[in-house]
Amino acid sequence: METILTIENLNKRFGSVHAVKNVSFEIKKGNVYGILGPNGSGKSTTLGIILNVVNRTSGDYKWFDGKMDTHHALKKVGAIIERPNFYPYMTAEENLKLVCKIKGIHYDKVEEKLQVVGLLERKDSKFRTFSLGMKQRLAIASALLNDPEILILDEPTNGLDPQGIRQIRDIIKHIASLGTTILLASHLLDEVEKVCSHVVVLRKGEILYSGSVDGIITNEGFFELQANDNNQLKATLQNHPAVEKIDDEDGKLFVYLKAPLEAADLNRFLFQNNISLNHLVKRKHSLEEQFLQLTNHN
Ligand code: ADP
Ligand code: MG
Repeated sequence: METILTIENLNKRFGSVHAVKNVSFEIKKGNVYGILGPNGSGKSTTLGIILNVVNRTSGDYKWFDGKMDTHHALKKVGAIIERPNFYPYMTAEENLKLVCKIKGIHYDKVEEKLQVVGLLERKDSKFRTFSLGMKQRLAIASALLNDPEILILDEPTNGLDPQGIRQIRDIIKHIASLGTTILLASHLLDEVEKVCSHVVVLRKGEILYSGSVDGIITNEGFFELQANDNNQLKATLQNHPAVEKIDDEDGKLFVYLKAPLEAADLNRFLFQNNISLNHLVKRKHSLEEQFLQLTNHN
């Protein structure tokens, strides 16, 4: 799979604030990536660095195959990292045509991209009459005018009402389905879950998880177990192929899985090994719990 962006050991310090710490990840063509983290976790700073508007302290990033300088590479990148800003008294179409003129893009693209974001019927309306959601959609259309390889969005649904949020998310999914790679920063777990295929979870500038969204969601779950002799129970469990890790807490064993295992099957296995349980509960972390666990612990 073609690589769009490679980030290696990126660091950014603002005085004493270490905003981005040794961040490394790769973006492959065709996927939808989320950078997920609470406010202040370094999402916008990371985007600013790769878009060449924030200077990095150390580390490296390279666009595409690395043979192009950043200035040229960024011509193949569409990004919205600020509030949409167009001329208020010009229509949607006039604003986009102006962008075309500045960037040397054919005017044909204007209607095509207005269609993608669902604003074609509103092309003759002045920008000042648009809702925030429509302004944001116009900004997306503008970023798409030059058919970028990748679209970068920072908190694309901030400040929108539920309907506006829904429209933006649907548009992002639609753009992804047309083959454009997407990187979006969000502090909203459900946004990343609904829109992204891959996620980088940041907390205080550090990566806590990086991988597929499914990998974070479809955790196999864990068992809470207790027997009269927890040591014997633990020793036996260590031989089970589905067991990843066992934690001991308040007289209970928390058994984390790396493969699917049903409670009945585990019970049978233990019984065959001469262990009777006096407590067995199977639990699954919700994505919410896992995210909080990832981001709250020190
Ligand atoms: P996020 O986008 O995840 O909310 P930011 O990247 O904006 O986080 O900020 C990360 C950290 O860097 C925060 O502690 C923030 O206060 C700090 N920071 C960001 N920009 C600047 C700046 N220009 N000057 C000083 N500190 C900054
Ligand atoms: Mg931000």
